[in-house]
Amino acid sequence: MRKSRVVFMFLDLVVSGLSQRVAGPPQGRHRAAPRHSGETRSRNPLAEVSRICSQPTAGPSRRVMAVFAVAALVFAQSAPAFAYLKFGIESSSGPLTLKWPRPVRYFVNNGSVPGVAASDLQAAVGRAFSTWQAVPTASISYQFVGLTAALPTQEDGQSTLGFDLRPDLDRVLASTDILLDNTTGEIVEADIFFNAAFPWSTAPAGEAGRYDLESIAVHEIGHLSGLGHSALGETELRADGGRRVLAAEAVMFPIAYPAGNVSARTLRADDVAGISDLYPDGGFRDATGSVSGRVTHNGVGVYGAHIVAFDPATGSLVGALSLDSQGRFAMLGLSPGPHILRVEPLDDADLGSFFDADRKIDLDFRVAFVPQLVVVPRAGDSGSVEIAVAGK
Ligand SMILES: [Zn+2]
Repeated sequence: MRKSRVVFMFLDLVVSGLSQRVAGPPQGRHRAAPRHSGETRSRNPLAEVSRICSQPTAGPSRRVMAVFAVAALVFAQSAPAFAYLKFGIESSSGPLTLKWPRPVRYFVNNGSVPGVAASDLQAAVGRAFSTWQAVPTASISYQFVGLTAALPTQEDGQSTLGFDLRPDLDRVLASTDILLDNTTGEIVEADIFFNAAFPWSTAPAGEAGRYDLESIAVHEIGHLSGLGHSALGETELRADGGRRVLAAEAVMFPIAYPAGNVSARTLRADDVAGISDLYPDGGFRDATGSVSGRVTHNGVGVYGAHIVAFDPATGSLVGALSLDSQGRFAMLGLSPGPHILRVEPLDDADLGSFFDADRKIDLDFRVAFVPQLVVVPRAGDSGSVEIAVAGK
């Protein structure tokens, strides 16, 4: 029996300050397919995700809508929701979370670009995979199989990372697409291409004017592993309408640091919570706790509020979004002990990085703090924290 398959595609955008979004899909990669596909091996390009900066006023593409609609559907039906976005699909037997059922075997394409030989590429992505694999509370592992002439844009049963020259994608630094079995949610293949139209570097300390391959690989491998975007970052609007990242507390923040910066080589608490929740190991469930609750505005549940838990003992931040019409949220994988909870509108990145564009997101409220510390019990939940926010 042939399995039905769906592909999720993450096109990560990069260049800040441009006044346009990528208008169309890359040639030959997108095929129209129903969102909840029963088709055999249908390509379902579901997400276009901004990695460095996108027009805050531009509408998300249909592909974004599709993937976030699917994700939101899963969140809405599975309680509790999660601290970071992870992706799921709806199946006849209920929502399924995308994840690998076994160690990920990957190939590296033997092509090179100026400044980055195939061996440099292999080493840089190897370090990026090792970063995720080193998380002690997560079980996912990755195995390098070998260099290959196969392209990362081929659907061939092999997961391949490599360069692809796509000058037409003038804001896309890299892209991940995931082929999954939509009867189980199991990922069967994932490919990542780095756009050779941009200048790249694998220099240990980064290189001015060149994008750090390892940093971008860490972000893409987060997608390859099943993670979506985190909202834990601060940006400022630029005069040209783009956004500049001031700080990101997750490598899965959808807007990247500029060329030359290597900060995103290192996972943050939110990334660790995300990968650990998908692939729990090392007593993760017993050693951590959760906070759940509800955000309301004038008595009505807020959809898409960003809730941030700060642990003053460790300095770590984990974020969550309220993901149903009652404003409910849940954050898993928190360190036990008292936390400071803050609620803010989701206004530091393009909403299309997180949500179905049809979804009404309430941005018209002021940042609020929960007046008392919220204690996270070990292996337990805080109990519902009710947060009422006020209009601006
Ligand atoms: Zn991304």
